[in-house]
Formats: sequence, structure tokens, C-alpha cells
Amino acid sequence: MIYLDNAATTKLDLDAFEAMKGYLINDYANASQPYSFAVKARKAIEHARAEIARCINAEPNEIYFTSCGTESDNWAIKGFVKQYNSTSTLQIVSSAFEHHAVLNACKSVESETVKVSLIYPDKNGYIQCEKLESMIEKPVGLVSVMMVNNEIGTVQPIKELCQIAHEKGYCFHTDAVQAVGHLDIDVKDLGIDMLSASAHKFNGPKGIGFLYIKSGTSISPLIDGGSQEKQLRAGTENVAFIIGMATALSKNTLYIDENIKHLSKLENTLLNFLNTSGVEYKRNGGGPTGIISLSFAGINGETLLHRLDLQGFSISTGSACDGQNDQISHVLGSIGLEPVFANGTIRVSMSKHNTQEEILKFGKALVSTVNKLKNGK
Ligand code: PLP
Repeated sequence: MIYLDNAATTKLDLDAFEAMKGYLINDYANASQPYSFAVKARKAIEHARAEIARCINAEPNEIYFTSCGTESDNWAIKGFVKQYNSTSTLQIVSSAFEHHAVLNACKSVESETVKVSLIYPDKNGYIQCEKLESMIEKPVGLVSVMMVNNEIGTVQPIKELCQIAHEKGYCFHTDAVQAVGHLDIDVKDLGIDMLSASAHKFNGPKGIGFLYIKSGTSISPLIDGGSQEKQLRAGTENVAFIIGMATALSKNTLYIDENIKHLSKLENTLLNFLNTSGVEYKRNGGGPTGIISLSFAGINGETLLHRLDLQGFSISTGSACDGQNDQISHVLGSIGLEPVFANGTIRVSMSKHNTQEEILKFGKALVSTVNKLKNGK
């Protein structure tokens, strides 16, 4: 099996796995309990919090653990809106090609007093700063624009977008689920107020994430209950997974430049192979994190995926969370890709574990399968 769906999820890092084990089997105490058995777990959580903060240049008290990227996104949006009473009018400005965790959270808070506006990216997959500027229309609001698009890989101009939001008095959130552990992120330099991340996208375990909330940012809890996470996110701390997430992030952060270079070489190998094969294709977007969206006119992407699956390759048609959805991806629609291309689109997402040899094998299988499908075979 050659795994090329790393934007859907990544392989758990072995050091992260080793670091987690002790907290599942031996030091399994509830970290919030007062007795000495819980001290080790509590200290480990605070160590992990500091480590994660260091990786994005935040302060430890600005990191809040959640169950996943989806929860972090929901919390940022719903928690922002919840602070205001129903008579204040607010605006949420987001983009049309966000992950559904953001889009559906926006939909659920939309009301007579909460206006939701979506910015369309340009045909290359970038949000233009001028568009944001012209869309902001209320005195209070939140801008939420993702850092790296999960289907086409484009990196958004977060620092500039954040600056515009702040000039207009708006708070700024970014869904950085596809960016954390893959790009150098300095939240202080970017100026952002909130950032969502998910461990399983950077070789950590599934079911754990975090929300960075800049000191002084006002947000209500999404999950009510006990007093964990400074009373902002209730629920018994998932100690082992928090440790696993911090271990994976620290390790990935050490090798960001090296990984980007590796992914760029793999990408060149695949695109050079496609270019010399004579097969016609269109590349959508592009970026440094190994996400390659390819469209083949007149071919069904779903059929292509299954044919490649039978040959041992794991790829995706759109985003992983849309695996059950056979409609044209909202991301591809938002950049204006014609249906004939959008229907024949696959997403290849590579990682540090992939080799040149694997990519060449994939390129050959892709070209021969596309040619067969084109010839009705
Ligand atoms: N945001 C983006 C950009 C994603 O790619 C994903 C997952 O694919 C999510 C949010 C959701 O993250 P999680 O799977 O941790 O809920």
C-alpha cells in the first residue's frame, strides 16, 4: 500500500506513541485530582502545553486542549458569538472554501443579528485582502480564514488579512489544521487572536487538538461542565493524547524546512512525470505542504480513485471529510473550476514518509489508469 492521503490523516509518530503509553497504563490518574498519584499527569500536561506554545511562539496559558480541529473551529466561532446578547448585531466574515467545520459552525450561528458573509477565493485559490476590506461592515465581528486549504494546498496571506480585521475592530481566527506542524507559525508575528489545530494532521493521535486563544481575547465556553482548562473547556483531560500531540508537534517542528524541501522534490517528480507522459491535466492551487489537486477532464474522479485503490494507492477525490459526498467539492466550485474538470479531480497529499520511488510508481499507475479510462476501458 502506498499512502498518499496525508491531508486526511497522518501516521502516528513512534516517539509520540512511546510517550503516550505510560499515561494510558501506569500514570492513568485523573489529572485534576488533588492526590499525589495525579501529580505526574498534571505536570506532564503543563509540560505539553508549554511545548506546544513554544512551537507556535505562543504563551503556555494561551493553549487550550480540545478533542479535534472540528471542535476548535466550532469553539472559536460559536464561543465568539455567544459572548454577545441577541440584541447586538455582529458579522462573521469567512471564506467560501473553508472546511465544513468552519462553514457549518458559521451557518449554525447565522441569525437576524449575526450576519455571515463569505469571501470567494480567486481562481488560483487565494483570498484577496481588498475583498475582505470591502466586506467588513459592522463595528463588531470575527474574521475566520484558513491558513492552508485542505483540498488545494494554497497558503493564505494570514498576516495581512489579520491586520485588516484588526483595523476594522474585528477579531481574527484561523483554521490552521493543515498548517500546524507543516509550516513555521509565529502567532505573535501573525497577530492572530485564535488558531485551531488537530494532532492527527501532524503525526499525533486522532481525537485531540488545541485552540490557541491570545491573552485578552474574550470567548465563551462551547462545552459546559467541570472547571478544566481554566473553566473554558470542560471534560477530563486526555492526558496520553495531549502528551502524544506535544511530542509529535515538537518533532515535526524541528524538521519543517527539511520536510518542505522533501515534499517539493516529490511534487516535482510527479509533475515532471505527468508533463512528459502526454496526459492532459490541470493542477488546482498549490503550496508547500504536499497537497496536489489534479483534474482530468472527462474522467470520473471517484472511478479513478477506486481503480488506483485496487492497485494499492490511497488517495482522495476531495477532502477526507467529504469522502461520503459525491457532489462537486465546494472548494473546487469556489475557485470556479468547470464541472468537467471538477468531476475528474483527485487529491494527492504526500508526507515525509513518501519516497521518490513511491511517487514514480504512483505517477505511472495514474497515467496508465487515466489513459485506460479515456479509452473507455
Ligand atoms: N479544518 C481543516 C482545514 C481540515 O482539513 C480538517 C480535517 O480534515 C478539519 C478542520 C477537521 O479536523 P479534525 O479531523 O481534527 O476534526
